Amino acid sequence: LARMRFAPSPTGSLHVGGARTALYNWLMAKKGQLDFEGSESAFILRVEDTDLARSTKESEASVLADLQWLGLSWDEGPDMEGCNYGPYRQSERNEIYVAAANRLLQEGKAYRCFCTPEELEELKAQQEAEGIPPRYDNRWRDADPELVNKMLDAGTPFTVRFKVPDGARIVIEDVVRGTVGWDASATVGDFIMLRSNGVPVYNFCVAMDDALMGVTTVVRAEEHLTNTLRQALILDALGAPRPRYAHCSLILGEDKQKLSKRHGATSCDQFRLDGFLPDAMINYLALLGWNDGTDNEIFTRDELIDAFEVNRVVKSPSVFDMEKLKWVNSQHMKLLPIDEIADLVKDQLEWEGLLKEGTSMDDPNVNNFALAATALARQMMETTKDAATNAQQVLGYGLPATYAELQDQHAKKMIEKGNFYPLAMHLVEQFESGDLPQPDTENLLAAFGDAIGPAKENVLNCEYTSTYQKYMKALAKEKDVKGKNLFHPVRLALTGEMSGQDVTKQLSLLSMAVAEDSVIDNEK
Ligand code: GLU
Repeated sequence: LARMRFAPSPTGSLHVGGARTALYNWLMAKKGQLDFEGSESAFILRVEDTDLARSTKESEASVLADLQWLGLSWDEGPDMEGCNYGPYRQSERNEIYVAAANRLLQEGKAYRCFCTPEELEELKAQQEAEGIPPRYDNRWRDADPELVNKMLDAGTPFTVRFKVPDGARIVIEDVVRGTVGWDASATVGDFIMLRSNGVPVYNFCVAMDDALMGVTTVVRAEEHLTNTLRQALILDALGAPRPRYAHCSLILGEDKQKLSKRHGATSCDQFRLDGFLPDAMINYLALLGWNDGTDNEIFTRDELIDAFEVNRVVKSPSVFDMEKLKWVNSQHMKLLPIDEIADLVKDQLEWEGLLKEGTSMDDPNVNNFALAATALARQMMETTKDAATNAQQVLGYGLPATYAELQDQHAKKMIEKGNFYPLAMHLVEQFESGDLPQPDTENLLAAFGDAIGPAKENVLNCEYTSTYQKYMKALAKEKDVKGKNLFHPVRLALTGEMSGQDVTKQLSLLSMAVAEDSVIDNEK
């Protein structure tokens, strides 16, 4: 039986770390469902929104959407009907927590604390002054019942605190970290379960829900390890079995610091917009802290379900490597037929603002352009965004304003202007290596510039538009150049880059972009 849960707090978007946690839990649940058909093995989605001030509906919706994009669908969750262990939003489970707190109160495993916030502040300040870690001093633990009743009668606000058993030692066998143990009463004071406004505290909810939802293994980030002591204490007091725990190590950036926004994209949404495939994402996320014991690095979804073993999750932190993710993505793209990639490229064209406003995604011209852009980029493509970037290049995004400007300027001048630095560098290199004699380049650029002109509509008016091969051939004959001495300057004139994809394909993409019925917004 594998009842696994992913328990996001809806206070932001889903990031790499959370997505990996979700994935490991999902993989174990899927394997459980395969191995024990008809069992209650499940991937449970539980929304931990007890922090009402920071939780938002928008964040919940975005986390759910990102999980769906990754294909980590859940069997039980807040948006599903007919599940046995709901509600699956902690904010809707208050009665359950209050009832459990009352039970623990009755059993003498919890007690009421009438300390005011000021008193607690004072205690903290005093402990700070003495140089001891701040901690509740259990002052209401053994209070006189008469005093307690008096306080209750007077309507004094109180919190419910958990009574940490004297001398208790909590030991867990963490799947990743091995044996972890705490001397409970030496580590924590009697902690709050219910706040004075009746709102339950995070650790109490988590422990209760893991028990009530029958969670078998909790896979989560290492930073939650300190919560495990409190959760285990609560579960023991409730007489509920503890789940197995697997605390996964941190994900670091390449500078070995905890991965964060300053390392670049870390949210799943951004990876989607950057043109990564969900299957590649989960493949790469799986490898961030796990391997199957072989050199194998490319796994389909089913292969991952089959191969994943939580006890092969490594204890050392993993480093997020963008280049590797891109490589994994390119491998997964190779597994897809071109029209499926083109379908994704369509979205990219829209996201990058290449489509004319109001264009329908069902317009066959969008399909055709996406296909052409995909074909052009295919060989060197790492993400579906590359196709859009290629198209932007061909459309002259980021090019000098006019071709005349491009032709007139000497490479060095361009460097001085700082505008076309890469272009100028290429030119200089080519001149110096003798690959590209200067007069030819100038002539070619001029000829090509004349032909297509500053306004790209001229591409269509040029007498060779029907086939660009023909045009290139004619140009080659006229100027008596061939090979890269022809292609480089033409591509340069067209895209501002010396190297790139097949020029004739670039030309046909350009002509599609400027055709009368084009859906492409080429006025950038
Ligand atoms: N809600 C917690 C978080 O988003 C996860 C708690 C857990 O996995 O136990 O960090």
